[in-house]
Amino acid sequence: MRVARLLLVFVLVSSVFAWDDVGHKATAYIAWQLMSPQAREKAVKILLSAPEDSHLAVFFSNYSARPLEVRQLEFFMMASVWADVVRDRNFPVRNSKYHKSDWHYFDKFWKFENGKVKLLENPEGESGGKAVEKLFELEKILRDPSVQDSEKAIALAWFLHIAGDIHQPLHNSAKVTEAFPKGDQGGNLFLLTPKGTPREKQENLHWFWDSIIIRNIERGSACDLDFIPKITEMITAEYPLSSMRNKLELGKYDKWHEEAFEIAVTKVYPPTLKMFEMPSEEYRKEAFRISKQQIALAGYRIGETLNQIFGK
Ligand SMILES: [Zn+2]
Repeated sequence: MRVARLLLVFVLVSSVFAWDDVGHKATAYIAWQLMSPQAREKAVKILLSAPEDSHLAVFFSNYSARPLEVRQLEFFMMASVWADVVRDRNFPVRNSKYHKSDWHYFDKFWKFENGKVKLLENPEGESGGKAVEKLFELEKILRDPSVQDSEKAIALAWFLHIAGDIHQPLHNSAKVTEAFPKGDQGGNLFLLTPKGTPREKQENLHWFWDSIIIRNIERGSACDLDFIPKITEMITAEYPLSSMRNKLELGKYDKWHEEAFEIAVTKVYPPTLKMFEMPSEEYRKEAFRISKQQIALAGYRIGETLNQIFGK
């Protein structure tokens, strides 16, 4: 039963999600490298206590011949994408209980006016998302000794995920234009494919940023445990902890958001970027550079936060 379900869950993870699963797993991997043995052990113990109907603990492989340490790392990386896994409507019970579409982002509404960024009130009926307030709440749950591990497991999986999402600039921005008076939904409405492209073949700006890592590094047939370490080594060599230690701003989730929002308004929508056109080579390189930097920062922040919460 457990094995069957395990297979089922793995199949579901193969599709591409926000800060697609490579981005999240790379972030989790970087965090893991930074975590103390005690913090790792605590995190794994908590995640294994997840309620059965969440299908979270099934990501831990009991059957593998691989060393425990490797399986724990793999489990931790999978936990960081669980919040996307539960989007699947083929599991209606799990979906209705655990899926929270507006926890993945916190959009600030804005527009360009005379070449300057102008912040706007949220349009009527638009919440803008809950990512920031949830990060504060989740940290509190993780620190609370009176909360059961089963509840903490869900909180930790969400924390790992949202703390990654909030570093993707487009999870922080809703750009208002004449075409999109209620905002462009983090670039989801900003199409890059030619006008008239059938829906299933459309590509948008949000997708472009979510998937930038995987589209710029040759993966071949490498499995996660070969591929993720390879790309994170590259990312952390380019952006080592020593270069970021003084801007970790632990616990200041509003600042993490502000920083990524700033990137969204200054870097994501240059005048050269046009609807219905693929971004330039120069834009692609810049997006790749920014994303690597943001993934490194997210990983360091999560790792240090969990060290603080679970002890060094
Ligand atoms: Zn997400």
